[in-house]
Amino acid sequence: MRCVMHKILSKYISQTTMLRCTSLYIYKVIFIIIIMEISNNKKMDSVVKTLDSISQRVTQIDNYINEVRPVILSVKKELSAFDASCGTWMSVNKQKQRNKSSITILGNVKLDAIVVNALHQVKQDGELYYIPHMDHFAINITGSVFHGGIGKIFTDNKSIEKIKDCKFSQSCAKQNNCNYYHDPVSFPGSKDIRNYTSNSWQYTNEKSKSNKGRTFGNITTIETDAQLMTADDINKFYDQTMHDILCSLVLKKIRDSN
Ligand SMILES: [Zn+2]
Repeated sequence: MRCVMHKILSKYISQTTMLRCTSLYIYKVIFIIIIMEISNNKKMDSVVKTLDSISQRVTQIDNYINEVRPVILSVKKELSAFDASCGTWMSVNKQKQRNKSSITILGNVKLDAIVVNALHQVKQDGELYYIPHMDHFAINITGSVFHGGIGKIFTDNKSIEKIKDCKFSQSCAKQNNCNYYHDPVSFPGSKDIRNYTSNSWQYTNEKSKSNKGRTFGNITTIETDAQLMTADDINKFYDQTMHDILCSLVLKKIRDSN
């Protein structure tokens, strides 16, 4: 029996078609078919007929592979080129990381940041950015860009300035002498950083004009609090967030260096 099977298999396996296709797998399939056919008491003629049929299908598959081979090679080439370009991109990215600048906040208090010319250049990559003409740091979290600096915190209400947004937009007559905050996005050329009063971090659910505390952030009322916030409240909250992030980075840097 082994001898007969060997002869049959040799006939098909010796064909280059079989060898070019995934021959080992097909070899196994043919072997199983022979065993099944013989165990079903079929005559050898029937077995050979079945194998002939399989051989024809294998030839078809092989022809198909020959047809698509140039396409596969072309795709492989494109992928290699893509890999190469990724490598370039990665090295450029690493280069950028090396090109961080040390930005002075005050005296020896500095933060490393990537310098860019505009907020739209702030990438969502976990890095801290700095825009010189605004004198603002910026970060991009989940597509939202926060920008600002570390402002002053007034512990009393005397001579407070740059706490609230200026209502006059670019038409403000006082320009750099205005006591209200000129967001560089709305006031091109401004290098203002928003300031805060000490109670800006105190949460209250009282909505009143005299209230200077936070009215957002309490989990149990977060949905309704959001609906009651004015545009000023929201701008202040975003700027305060950036203030706190920068303070945390400075604190970490100072602590790490000790
Ligand atoms: Zn103004």
